[in-house]
Amino acid sequence: MAKADYKNVWVLAEVQRGKLSPTAYELLTAGRKLADELHEKLCAVLLGFEVESFAQDLIERGADCVYICDDVHLEHYIDDVYAKVLNSLVKTYKPNKFLIPATNRGRALSAKTAVFIGTGLTADATDVQIHQEDGQLYATRPTFGGNLMATITCAKTRPEMCSLRPMSYERAVPQPGRKGEIIRFPFDATQHTSLAKFIEFIKNKGNDLDLSEAKVIVAGGRGIGKKEGFQLLAQLAERLGGTVAASRPPVDNGWIDYRYQIGLTGRTVKPKLYIACGISGQIQHMAGMSGADVVVAINKDPNAPIMKTAHYAVEGDLYEVIPAMLESL
Ligand SMILES: Cc1cc2nc3c(=O)[nH]c(=O)nc-3n(C[C@H](O)[C@H](O)[C@H](O)COP(=O)(O)OP(=O)(O)OC[C@H]3O[C@@H](n4cnc5c(N)ncnc54)[C@H](O)[C@@H]3O)c2cc1C
Repeated sequence: MAKADYKNVWVLAEVQRGKLSPTAYELLTAGRKLADELHEKLCAVLLGFEVESFAQDLIERGADCVYICDDVHLEHYIDDVYAKVLNSLVKTYKPNKFLIPATNRGRALSAKTAVFIGTGLTADATDVQIHQEDGQLYATRPTFGGNLMATITCAKTRPEMCSLRPMSYERAVPQPGRKGEIIRFPFDATQHTSLAKFIEFIKNKGNDLDLSEAKVIVAGGRGIGKKEGFQLLAQLAERLGGTVAASRPPVDNGWIDYRYQIGLTGRTVKPKLYIACGISGQIQHMAGMSGADVVVAINKDPNAPIMKTAHYAVEGDLYEVIPAMLESL
Protein backbone atom coordinates (compact mmCIF):
# COMPACT_ATOMS: atom_id res chain seq x y z
CA MET A 1 0.00 0.00 0.00
CA ALA A 2 1.38 3.41 -0.99
CA LYS A 3 0.71 5.12 2.31
CA ALA A 4 1.83 8.49 0.98
CA ASP A 5 -1.26 8.53 -1.29
CA TYR A 6 -3.51 8.77 1.75
CA LYS A 7 -4.23 12.32 2.93
CA ASN A 8 -6.61 14.14 5.25
CA VAL A 9 -8.51 13.34 8.40
CA TRP A 10 -12.12 12.19 8.05
CA VAL A 11 -14.87 12.08 10.63
CA LEU A 12 -18.25 10.42 10.21
CA ALA A 13 -21.10 12.80 11.03
CA GLU A 14 -23.79 10.40 12.15
CA VAL A 15 -27.41 11.23 11.35
CA GLN A 16 -30.02 9.34 13.34
CA ARG A 17 -33.63 9.51 12.24
CA GLY A 18 -33.22 12.90 10.61
CA LYS A 19 -31.12 14.48 13.37
CA LEU A 20 -27.40 15.17 13.32
CA SER A 21 -25.83 13.39 16.28
CA PRO A 22 -23.82 15.67 18.65
CA THR A 23 -21.02 13.08 18.37
CA ALA A 24 -20.28 14.75 15.02
CA TYR A 25 -19.21 17.89 16.88
CA GLU A 26 -17.03 15.87 19.26
CA LEU A 27 -15.30 14.13 16.36
CA LEU A 28 -14.75 17.50 14.69
CA THR A 29 -12.87 18.68 17.80
CA ALA A 30 -10.72 15.53 17.85
CA GLY A 31 -10.24 15.55 14.08
CA ARG A 32 -9.37 19.26 13.88
CA LYS A 33 -6.48 18.73 16.27
CA LEU A 34 -5.17 15.76 14.27
CA ALA A 35 -5.54 17.57 10.93
CA ASP A 36 -3.76 20.69 12.19
CA GLU A 37 -0.84 18.66 13.48
CA LEU A 38 -0.55 16.84 10.16
CA HIS A 39 -1.15 20.04 8.11
CA GLU A 40 -3.94 18.19 6.35
CA LYS A 41 -7.62 18.90 5.76
CA LEU A 42 -10.42 17.89 8.09
CA CYS A 43 -13.32 16.35 6.19
CA ALA A 44 -16.73 15.25 7.45
CA VAL A 45 -18.75 12.47 5.84
CA LEU A 46 -22.54 12.67 5.74
CA LEU A 47 -24.61 9.67 4.67
CA GLY A 48 -28.38 9.52 4.61
CA PHE A 49 -31.41 10.98 2.91
CA GLU A 50 -31.97 14.74 2.85
CA VAL A 51 -28.86 15.31 4.95
CA GLU A 52 -27.21 18.04 2.89
CA SER A 53 -28.68 20.73 5.15
CA PHE A 54 -26.24 19.66 7.90
CA ALA A 55 -23.14 20.36 5.81
CA GLN A 56 -22.79 24.09 6.57
CA ASP A 57 -23.05 23.42 10.32
CA LEU A 58 -20.19 20.91 10.02
CA ILE A 59 -18.12 23.42 8.07
CA GLU A 60 -18.76 26.13 10.66
CA ARG A 61 -17.61 23.73 13.36
CA GLY A 62 -14.31 22.96 11.68
CA ALA A 63 -14.73 20.77 8.59
CA ASP A 64 -12.79 22.03 5.56
CA CYS A 65 -14.74 19.75 3.30
CA VAL A 66 -17.89 17.62 3.55
CA TYR A 67 -18.46 14.47 1.49
CA ILE A 68 -22.16 13.82 1.06
CA CYS A 69 -23.90 10.71 -0.17
CA ASP A 70 -27.56 11.63 -0.08
CA ASP A 71 -29.99 9.08 -1.44
CA VAL A 72 -33.36 7.60 -0.59
CA HIS A 73 -31.66 4.16 -0.25
CA LEU A 74 -29.82 5.58 2.76
CA GLU A 75 -32.93 6.83 4.54
CA HIS A 76 -32.88 3.87 6.92
CA TYR A 77 -29.64 2.64 8.41
CA ILE A 78 -28.48 -0.77 7.15
CA ASP A 79 -24.89 -1.42 8.11
CA ASP A 80 -23.93 -3.35 4.93
CA VAL A 81 -25.14 -0.54 2.71
CA TYR A 82 -23.56 2.23 4.76
CA ALA A 83 -20.27 0.31 5.06
CA LYS A 84 -20.16 -0.25 1.30
CA VAL A 85 -20.69 3.44 0.61
CA LEU A 86 -17.92 4.32 3.08
CA ASN A 87 -15.68 1.74 1.44
CA SER A 88 -16.31 3.30 -2.00
CA LEU A 89 -15.64 6.78 -0.62
CA VAL A 90 -12.39 5.68 1.02
CA LYS A 91 -11.19 3.85 -2.09
CA THR A 92 -11.94 6.94 -4.19
CA TYR A 93 -10.58 9.73 -1.99
CA LYS A 94 -8.01 7.89 0.18
CA PRO A 95 -8.16 9.48 3.63
CA ASN A 96 -5.26 9.12 6.03
CA LYS A 97 -7.24 8.82 9.29
CA PHE A 98 -10.93 8.06 9.75
CA LEU A 99 -12.81 8.59 13.01
CA ILE A 100 -16.27 7.14 13.58
CA PRO A 101 -18.35 7.64 16.75
CA ALA A 102 -18.43 4.58 19.03
CA THR A 103 -22.20 4.73 19.28
CA ASN A 104 -24.18 1.48 18.97
CA ARG A 105 -24.44 2.07 15.26
CA GLY A 106 -20.89 3.39 14.85
CA ARG A 107 -19.38 0.36 16.56
CA ALA A 108 -21.00 -1.99 14.05
CA LEU A 109 -20.41 0.28 11.08
CA SER A 110 -16.74 0.99 11.81
CA ALA A 111 -15.93 -2.72 12.14
CA LYS A 112 -17.69 -3.65 8.93
CA THR A 113 -16.19 -0.74 7.03
CA ALA A 114 -12.67 -1.59 8.20
CA VAL A 115 -13.12 -5.15 6.98
CA PHE A 116 -14.38 -4.02 3.56
CA ILE A 117 -11.48 -1.59 3.21
CA GLY A 118 -8.94 -4.09 4.57
CA THR A 119 -7.48 -1.80 7.21
CA GLY A 120 -7.09 -1.73 10.98
CA LEU A 121 -9.54 -0.29 13.49
CA THR A 122 -9.04 0.68 17.10
CA ALA A 123 -12.49 0.26 18.61
CA ASP A 124 -13.92 2.37 21.39
CA ALA A 125 -10.95 4.69 21.93
CA THR A 126 -11.08 7.53 24.42
CA ASP A 127 -8.13 9.56 23.11
CA VAL A 128 -6.37 10.05 19.79
CA GLN A 129 -2.98 11.62 19.18
CA ILE A 130 -0.61 12.07 16.28
CA HIS A 131 2.81 10.59 16.89
CA GLN A 132 5.28 13.40 16.34
CA GLU A 133 7.94 11.33 14.55
CA ASP A 134 5.97 9.26 12.06
CA GLY A 135 2.55 10.96 11.92
CA GLN A 136 0.81 7.73 12.91
CA LEU A 137 -2.46 7.70 14.79
CA TYR A 138 -2.04 6.63 18.40
CA ALA A 139 -5.47 5.61 19.67
CA THR A 140 -5.84 4.89 23.37
CA ARG A 141 -8.59 2.78 24.90
CA PRO A 142 -9.24 1.02 28.22
CA THR A 143 -8.45 -2.68 28.20
CA PHE A 144 -8.45 -5.66 30.62
CA GLY A 145 -11.69 -4.46 32.18
CA GLY A 146 -10.41 -0.91 32.42
CA ASN A 147 -7.34 -1.81 34.47
CA LEU A 148 -4.94 -0.77 31.71
CA MET A 149 -4.96 1.83 28.99
CA ALA A 150 -3.69 0.43 25.67
CA THR A 151 -2.34 2.64 22.90
CA ILE A 152 -2.91 0.98 19.56
CA THR A 153 -1.45 1.78 16.15
CA CYS A 154 -2.09 0.55 12.65
CA ALA A 155 1.32 0.53 11.01
CA LYS A 156 0.79 -1.04 7.62
CA THR A 157 -2.54 0.00 6.15
CA ARG A 158 -4.47 3.20 5.53
CA PRO A 159 -6.68 4.80 6.55
CA GLU A 160 -5.99 4.30 10.23
CA MET A 161 -9.51 3.89 11.58
CA CYS A 162 -10.79 4.45 15.06
CA SER A 163 -14.16 4.52 16.75
CA LEU A 164 -14.14 7.17 19.43
CA ARG A 165 -16.29 7.00 22.54
CA PRO A 166 -19.00 9.64 22.78
CA MET A 167 -18.18 12.37 25.32
CA SER A 168 -14.44 11.86 24.99
CA TYR A 169 -14.03 15.31 23.43
CA GLU A 170 -15.81 18.64 23.84
CA ARG A 171 -18.20 19.65 21.08
CA ALA A 172 -16.70 21.98 18.46
CA VAL A 173 -18.28 25.43 18.59
CA PRO A 174 -19.50 27.12 15.42
CA GLN A 175 -17.59 29.93 13.72
CA PRO A 176 -20.43 31.53 11.73
CA GLY A 177 -19.63 32.17 8.08
CA ARG A 178 -16.71 29.71 7.95
CA LYS A 179 -16.30 28.43 4.39
CA GLY A 180 -15.67 24.92 3.13
CA GLU A 181 -16.07 22.64 0.15
CA ILE A 182 -18.94 20.22 -0.49
CA ILE A 183 -18.32 17.09 -2.54
CA ARG A 184 -21.34 15.01 -3.56
CA PHE A 185 -20.77 11.29 -4.00
CA PRO A 186 -23.23 9.20 -6.02
CA PHE A 187 -25.06 6.27 -4.49
CA ASP A 188 -24.59 3.15 -6.62
CA ALA A 189 -27.58 0.85 -6.23
CA THR A 190 -25.74 -1.99 -8.01
CA GLN A 191 -22.75 -1.91 -5.64
CA HIS A 192 -24.13 -0.63 -2.35
CA THR A 193 -26.36 -3.61 -1.69
CA SER A 194 -27.43 -5.74 1.25
CA LEU A 195 -29.32 -8.94 1.94
CA ALA A 196 -30.92 -7.10 4.86
CA LYS A 197 -34.04 -5.07 4.25
CA PHE A 198 -35.50 -2.29 6.37
CA ILE A 199 -39.03 -3.21 7.41
CA GLU A 200 -40.05 -1.04 10.33
CA PHE A 201 -38.60 1.17 13.04
CA ILE A 202 -39.92 0.25 16.48
CA LYS A 203 -39.17 2.79 19.17
CA ASN A 204 -38.10 1.43 22.55
CA LYS A 205 -40.71 2.09 25.19
CA GLY A 206 -39.61 5.14 27.17
CA ASN A 207 -36.71 5.66 24.83
CA ASP A 208 -36.92 9.40 25.19
CA LEU A 209 -34.22 8.97 27.83
CA ASP A 210 -31.04 10.68 26.75
CA LEU A 211 -28.47 10.11 29.45
CA SER A 212 -25.77 11.80 27.43
CA GLU A 213 -27.74 15.07 27.52
CA ALA A 214 -28.74 14.86 31.22
CA LYS A 215 -27.45 17.68 33.41
CA VAL A 216 -28.20 15.81 36.64
CA ILE A 217 -27.88 12.05 37.14
CA VAL A 218 -28.79 10.15 40.28
CA ALA A 219 -27.19 6.72 39.97
CA GLY A 220 -27.82 3.67 42.11
CA GLY A 221 -25.50 0.75 42.75
CA ARG A 222 -25.61 -2.59 44.51
CA GLY A 223 -26.08 -0.69 47.77
CA ILE A 224 -29.65 0.12 46.68
CA GLY A 225 -30.36 -3.51 47.58
CA LYS A 226 -33.67 -3.84 45.69
CA LYS A 227 -35.50 -2.78 42.56
CA GLU A 228 -37.87 -0.49 44.50
CA GLY A 229 -34.88 1.56 45.63
CA PHE A 230 -34.85 3.23 42.24
CA GLN A 231 -38.21 4.83 43.03
CA LEU A 232 -36.52 6.83 45.79
CA LEU A 233 -33.69 7.78 43.44
CA ALA A 234 -36.22 8.79 40.80
CA GLN A 235 -37.85 11.17 43.28
CA LEU A 236 -34.52 12.87 43.91
CA ALA A 237 -33.73 12.94 40.19
CA GLU A 238 -37.11 14.45 39.40
CA ARG A 239 -36.71 17.11 42.09
CA LEU A 240 -33.34 18.09 40.59
CA GLY A 241 -34.55 17.96 36.98
CA GLY A 242 -32.45 14.92 36.16
CA THR A 243 -32.68 11.22 35.47
CA VAL A 244 -31.68 7.98 37.17
CA ALA A 245 -28.86 5.67 36.08
CA ALA A 246 -27.07 2.67 37.53
CA SER A 247 -23.85 0.78 38.01
CA ARG A 248 -23.68 -2.73 36.60
CA PRO A 249 -24.94 -4.89 39.51
CA PRO A 250 -28.48 -3.42 39.48
CA VAL A 251 -28.61 -4.15 35.73
CA ASP A 252 -27.31 -7.69 36.25
CA ASN A 253 -29.88 -8.17 39.02
CA GLY A 254 -32.69 -7.07 36.72
CA TRP A 255 -33.59 -4.03 38.85
CA ILE A 256 -33.16 -1.64 35.92
CA ASP A 257 -32.71 -1.82 32.15
CA TYR A 258 -29.22 -2.06 30.64
CA ARG A 259 -29.57 1.26 28.81
CA TYR A 260 -29.23 3.00 32.20
CA GLN A 261 -25.84 1.42 32.92
CA ILE A 262 -22.93 3.82 33.27
CA GLY A 263 -19.38 2.64 32.81
CA LEU A 264 -16.96 0.80 30.66
CA THR A 265 -19.55 -1.55 29.21
CA GLY A 266 -22.36 0.96 29.54
CA ARG A 267 -22.79 4.64 28.75
CA THR A 268 -20.34 7.51 29.20
CA VAL A 269 -21.93 10.61 30.68
CA LYS A 270 -20.81 14.13 31.48
CA PRO A 271 -23.51 15.75 33.64
CA LYS A 272 -23.06 18.83 35.79
CA LEU A 273 -24.03 16.80 38.85
CA TYR A 274 -23.65 13.03 39.41
CA ILE A 275 -25.01 11.63 42.66
CA ALA A 276 -23.70 8.09 43.20
CA CYS A 277 -25.83 6.21 45.74
CA GLY A 278 -24.54 2.91 47.09
CA ILE A 279 -21.83 2.72 44.42
CA SER A 280 -18.32 1.79 45.53
CA GLY A 281 -16.51 3.49 42.63
CA GLN A 282 -14.75 0.66 40.80
CA ILE A 283 -12.66 1.70 37.83
CA GLN A 284 -15.12 0.21 35.34
CA HIS A 285 -17.87 2.44 36.70
CA MET A 286 -15.68 5.53 36.98
CA ALA A 287 -14.74 5.13 33.29
CA GLY A 288 -18.27 6.23 32.44
CA MET A 289 -18.76 9.17 34.77
CA SER A 290 -15.44 10.69 35.76
CA GLY A 291 -16.12 13.60 33.38
CA ALA A 292 -18.99 14.86 35.60
CA ASP A 293 -18.47 18.42 36.86
CA VAL A 294 -19.47 17.59 40.44
CA VAL A 295 -19.70 14.12 41.97
CA VAL A 296 -21.59 13.50 45.21
CA ALA A 297 -21.16 10.04 46.74
CA ILE A 298 -23.55 8.63 49.33
CA ASN A 299 -22.12 5.51 50.90
CA LYS A 300 -22.15 3.71 54.24
CA ASP A 301 -18.48 2.88 53.90
CA PRO A 302 -16.14 5.88 54.27
CA ASN A 303 -13.35 3.82 52.73
CA ALA A 304 -15.18 3.06 49.47
CA PRO A 305 -12.97 4.32 46.59
CA ILE A 306 -15.60 6.78 45.38
CA MET A 307 -15.60 8.50 48.79
CA LYS A 308 -11.99 9.52 48.11
CA THR A 309 -12.54 10.90 44.61
CA ALA A 310 -16.00 12.49 44.95
CA HIS A 311 -16.23 16.26 45.40
CA TYR A 312 -18.70 15.67 48.24
CA ALA A 313 -18.71 12.40 50.19
CA VAL A 314 -21.75 11.79 52.36
CA GLU A 315 -21.20 8.93 54.81
CA GLY A 316 -24.49 7.25 55.65
CA ASP A 317 -27.31 4.96 54.64
CA LEU A 318 -28.83 6.14 51.37
CA TYR A 319 -32.27 5.28 52.70
CA GLU A 320 -31.76 7.94 55.38
CA VAL A 321 -29.68 10.45 53.41
CA ILE A 322 -31.91 10.71 50.32
CA PRO A 323 -35.17 11.32 52.25
CA ALA A 324 -33.32 13.98 54.24
CA MET A 325 -32.11 15.58 51.00
CA LEU A 326 -35.63 15.50 49.57
CA GLU A 327 -36.99 17.10 52.70
CA SER A 328 -34.55 19.97 52.66
CA LEU A 329 -34.95 20.44 48.90
C1 LIG B 1 -15.03 -6.10 31.89
C2 LIG B 1 -15.86 -5.45 32.96
C3 LIG B 1 -16.71 -4.42 32.60
C4 LIG B 1 -17.47 -3.78 33.59
N1 LIG B 1 -18.29 -2.75 33.21
C5 LIG B 1 -18.96 -2.06 34.17
C6 LIG B 1 -19.74 -0.92 33.83
O1 LIG B 1 -19.91 -0.55 32.66
N2 LIG B 1 -20.35 -0.26 34.83
C7 LIG B 1 -20.24 -0.62 36.14
O2 LIG B 1 -20.82 0.05 37.00
N3 LIG B 1 -19.51 -1.71 36.48
C8 LIG B 1 -18.88 -2.43 35.52
N4 LIG B 1 -18.17 -3.54 35.89
C9 LIG B 1 -18.29 -4.04 37.28
C10 LIG B 1 -17.37 -3.33 38.25
O3 LIG B 1 -16.13 -3.98 38.28
C11 LIG B 1 -17.95 -3.33 39.67
O4 LIG B 1 -18.20 -4.66 40.04
C12 LIG B 1 -19.24 -2.54 39.79
O5 LIG B 1 -19.07 -1.25 39.27
C13 LIG B 1 -19.62 -2.43 41.25
O6 LIG B 1 -20.87 -1.83 41.34
P1 LIG B 1 -21.33 -1.14 42.68
O7 LIG B 1 -20.39 -0.06 43.05
O8 LIG B 1 -22.76 -0.79 42.49
O9 LIG B 1 -21.29 -2.36 43.73
P2 LIG B 1 -20.28 -2.64 44.93
O10 LIG B 1 -18.88 -2.54 44.49
O11 LIG B 1 -20.74 -3.91 45.55
O12 LIG B 1 -20.55 -1.42 45.92
C14 LIG B 1 -21.74 -1.24 46.63
C15 LIG B 1 -21.53 -0.07 47.58
O13 LIG B 1 -22.74 0.26 48.21
C16 LIG B 1 -22.46 0.64 49.54
N5 LIG B 1 -23.71 0.44 50.29
C17 LIG B 1 -24.33 -0.71 50.61
N6 LIG B 1 -25.52 -0.45 51.21
C18 LIG B 1 -25.63 0.90 51.27
C19 LIG B 1 -26.63 1.78 51.80
N7 LIG B 1 -27.76 1.32 52.34
N8 LIG B 1 -26.41 3.11 51.74
C20 LIG B 1 -25.26 3.60 51.19
N9 LIG B 1 -24.28 2.81 50.67
C21 LIG B 1 -24.47 1.48 50.72
C22 LIG B 1 -21.32 -0.27 49.96
O14 LIG B 1 -20.59 0.31 51.03
C23 LIG B 1 -20.51 -0.35 48.68
O15 LIG B 1 -19.49 0.63 48.64
C24 LIG B 1 -17.41 -4.19 34.93
C25 LIG B 1 -16.54 -5.24 35.27
C26 LIG B 1 -15.78 -5.85 34.30
C27 LIG B 1 -14.85 -6.95 34.70
